[in-house]
Amino acid sequence: DSGAMTALGRASGVRVGGWGDAGRAMRGPPPPLPVLFVVLVAAPGTRAAGYETCPTVQPDMLNVHLLPHTHDDVGWVKTVDQYYYGVQNELHHGAVKNILDSVISALRAEPSRRFVYVEMAFFSRWWHQQTNATQQAVRELVRQGRLEFANGGWVMNDEAATHYGAIVDQMTLGLRFLQDTFGDDGRPRVAWHIDPFGHSREQASLFAQMGFDGIFLGRMDYQDRELRKKKREMELVWRASASLQPPTADLFTGLLSNAYDPPKHLCWDLVCDHDSSMVGDPFSPEDNADVLIDHFLDVATKQVTGCPEPAHPLPSPQQQASGSPVHVLYSTPACYLWELNKANLTWSLKEDDFFPYADGPHQFWTGYFSSRPALKRYERVSYNFLQVCKQLEALAAPAANVGPYGSGDSALLEEAMAVLQHHDAITGTSRQLVADDYARRLAAGWGRCEVLLSNALARLSGSQEAFSICPELNISVCPLSQTSARFQVAIYNPLARKVDRMVRLPVSAGAFLVKDPSGHAVPSDVLLLPQPEGQKPSPELLFSASVPALGFSIYSVSRVSLRRSKTHIPQPISQKPGSAVLNIKNEHIRATFNLETGFLMQIEDLEQKLVLPMNQSFFWYKAGTVGQKISQSSGAYIFKPQQQKPLPVSDSAQIHLLKTPLVQEVHQNFSAWCAQVVRLYRGQRHLELEWTVGPIPVGDKWGKEVISRFDMPLDTKGYFYTDSNGREILKRRKKRESRVGENYRPTWNLNQTEPVAGNYYPVNTRIYITDGKKQLTVLTDRSQGGSSLQDGSLELMVHRRLLLDDNRGVGEPLLEEGSGSWVRGRHLVLLDAVGTAAAGHRLLAEKEVLAPQVVLAPSGSALYHPGATRQLQFSGLRRELPPSVHLLTLARWGPQTLLLRLEHQFARGEDSGRNLSSPVTLNLQNLFSTFTITRLQETTLAANQPRASASRLQWNPDTGTTPTPTVPPLDPASITLQPMEIRTFVASVQWEEFAWSHGGDPVQA
Ligand SMILES: [Zn+2]
Repeated sequence: DSGAMTALGRASGVRVGGWGDAGRAMRGPPPPLPVLFVVLVAAPGTRAAGYETCPTVQPDMLNVHLLPHTHDDVGWVKTVDQYYYGVQNELHHGAVKNILDSVISALRAEPSRRFVYVEMAFFSRWWHQQTNATQQAVRELVRQGRLEFANGGWVMNDEAATHYGAIVDQMTLGLRFLQDTFGDDGRPRVAWHIDPFGHSREQASLFAQMGFDGIFLGRMDYQDRELRKKKREMELVWRASASLQPPTADLFTGLLSNAYDPPKHLCWDLVCDHDSSMVGDPFSPEDNADVLIDHFLDVATKQVTGCPEPAHPLPSPQQQASGSPVHVLYSTPACYLWELNKANLTWSLKEDDFFPYADGPHQFWTGYFSSRPALKRYERVSYNFLQVCKQLEALAAPAANVGPYGSGDSALLEEAMAVLQHHDAITGTSRQLVADDYARRLAAGWGRCEVLLSNALARLSGSQEAFSICPELNISVCPLSQTSARFQVAIYNPLARKVDRMVRLPVSAGAFLVKDPSGHAVPSDVLLLPQPEGQKPSPELLFSASVPALGFSIYSVSRVSLRRSKTHIPQPISQKPGSAVLNIKNEHIRATFNLETGFLMQIEDLEQKLVLPMNQSFFWYKAGTVGQKISQSSGAYIFKPQQQKPLPVSDSAQIHLLKTPLVQEVHQNFSAWCAQVVRLYRGQRHLELEWTVGPIPVGDKWGKEVISRFDMPLDTKGYFYTDSNGREILKRRKKRESRVGENYRPTWNLNQTEPVAGNYYPVNTRIYITDGKKQLTVLTDRSQGGSSLQDGSLELMVHRRLLLDDNRGVGEPLLEEGSGSWVRGRHLVLLDAVGTAAAGHRLLAEKEVLAPQVVLAPSGSALYHPGATRQLQFSGLRRELPPSVHLLTLARWGPQTLLLRLEHQFARGEDSGRNLSSPVTLNLQNLFSTFTITRLQETTLAANQPRASASRLQWNPDTGTTPTPTVPPLDPASITLQPMEIRTFVASVQWEEFAWSHGGDPVQA
């Protein structure tokens, strides 16, 4: 949470709205007025399902809906627990527990009052601490519609740095709590994203698919907001998918005129105690009721002018003076939305997104796309591990939960991951102590999942291996493989298709024999890589593994005595001016380096005969410095370079070359804090750039924002493309031939104040540029900010270290003194012809987001139980799914039910090579090997209502209304997926007795 919109220039992590009682618990007695209100003129009409409890409005009057609410950050300046209990109030005054206590008692005291609550991470905790009597009273308030849940996710998630899979998971978790606790009475109708720092189109698409009737947003670009107010387009229909058939992904969108704050002079919250209390006492000289009422009416009348032409005329000043036709009522977001819907107006249609967000000139919130890169990566690998954990819980249940290694489950990691989606968590905009707490939560969740994984692998493999994860493999640390002469490597593949993967493990010195599950030796190399100063070089074993769909392969590794063991060591390359070039290559790709600079200078696709010269290197933008007089500096949120031109980290890189039968690598050393390995594994169709950056030196008193930049001779005409939360692709434009600067936004004429920061967009998984023939795509391993600032140029911000706070409330510079200061990551580069590029980047991104999980065990273990057969290879699927289908979710849902999500991962018309954009039909019968589906029910995306009975309010965009398509009858033998469609099922299942535990044939991939 953040913002400089209050008069104090500070934001609050916990805002309580509503009447005096709610505020009274926090400070002195304020008068009964709300924090936020929106207004509408409408005639009362019939009630749609779910809206029966809405208050009655007055026809022919200006109906002012007061929406009492609270915005509770799930961690920001304080940790989640500090906010909940009200600890460390000197850091930030707020206690969510007290808000909920006082709100509930105030609701019970006065029947006309209403309140809206949003964040289930807090509410579910509070709920479990209440007595039965209080719970019963709250159920009644929910049934009466007086306590309304909006959004209902575990958190109000960020929209820029989040992956769609994690958004779906966190919404499912929160909405499930509401459904289990309150049934349909508690199901939110309205999404409520009043604080995220810009809004993604994919988020709107997901909300539409979850069945929401509309969304309200708080933040948008200041220029966009002013123009929309003038054009009466503060409310609109957002068409959030270019692939899904309208109105599937259409979402009614309301933009709040004053973000989450109350109107000026009407704030009696603890954060704005400069506003005078209302005194309604005619005998007091302090009586100010008339003044405040006039002001209130004035605000209400002005706010109406941002909305579409109302059906009824506004009250004139004369009317107001003689008893105004204004009707003020306590309401909720859903009830306000319901009135808008009944007004039966026509709305403008929006098809782009709300990025980037600026709250004023030179104030672009595009830094947070890259802030805290280590936490962003930890979150992404935790998403991967959570899916592995949930799949194994579904495949091996209940042996996964209780087994030889104790009790384990996915619930703790699921909750931790949900918390990480909060708009101050994954964004990197919390204080350091809070970021540490987020990481602690993830680690605790990993612990429970590790037990589950060991139990499940023991059950499925028939032997009790002491499986363990090496969490520091990214820095080549793994005690088990580094100290054992013999060990086993189990590789679990969470994809619904077989994968081949290079496995790289630190080992002790010597030669090794690696055997696949059928006992055949597989080729392997030992590499001896240079380590940072002071550490001795550590050998790494490299071999290629093949793993069946939704299953595992167990490889054995043993040290062998060979007379001539061959260890590969990177060789220094002499770099004389004018000397020849250097190549690395495999079957598919050749990468060429300039020996003078040591930089990558060309990439070739050998099959398609595509050649693309390029220059790739690292640069940094100068952020603010201490003592400098600047109105806005870069900080956790904001990117504000002091010069538009970045400085090179180095003019050249020292290089080493490593060539083995399995891999070819060029090691580039740019500076003491910036290095990169450019790598081609055998068989790999992409070039891998593994960069290591940090700790970024700030001894020169300059904050630095480091980018990796690719410059190519491609005529890209000012366009580039970025993904939206890892799913659909949005076309971005940086207009070239403009007289007013370098400006472009799809829906308005931008007055650009920041040519660099104002052209940065979130990149969750990929960014690409094309000249219409060739396409260069870069996949990221975490969310980053990226742009194309010149034709043929593409850049990604990999790390940032700042000395100043950016004045949006977090109150700390983004210094990251600890382990977060040193970051390693990968960019995967694909060169393709335009028509076949999607097949490359879609399937590669899927493999990266759900990468195989490598676990190790010492050799020589007991059987799972006497008579069990050891099983070194396993697949949870009887047949692979086609490449266009992604298994998005396979998880336990209840004692005998599973949650299953299948997704078409290609957009409409995107692939012209292999026809991967076509609809695809699947048979779910006999698909899974460890269970049989006995009953299948289709639900909306968050699994909180059956699809057949779900209906949404209809809205009329100015381009014409499309009727909602009817839902076809469900046939498990024939499930069709359209491009970009996700279908969600709750499946009743019966787990099979595993065939091999009776000595039968093992399940084969
Ligand atoms: Zn917030």
